[in-house]
Amino acid sequence: MFGVTKTHPMTKTLITFALAIALGGAGLSLAKAGRKVYICNTKNAVAYHFNRECQGLQKCKGTVSEVTEAAAQEKGLHSCGFEK
Ligand SMILES: [Zn+2]
Repeated sequence: MFGVTKTHPMTKTLITFALAIALGGAGLSLAKAGRKVYICNTKNAVAYHFNRECQGLQKCKGTVSEVTEAAAQEKGLHSCGFEK
């Protein structure tokens, strides 16, 4: 009887711990998708940049916008080759 009641809180703790890791991981990837990137507002733009000072962005002939990475990807842009 005691053996059973003792294992329950332990199992619960383990499940909570596993959930926290799973949720924490999801939170991290959400933060990653929502981070700000810089895009060049021209038809020729193909990439978005994490750094406003990126050399790829210096070639931009139009204006530069700050958007979320997800929004940039929706425009068909891919991450800049000069950055990681
Ligand atoms: Zn760049």
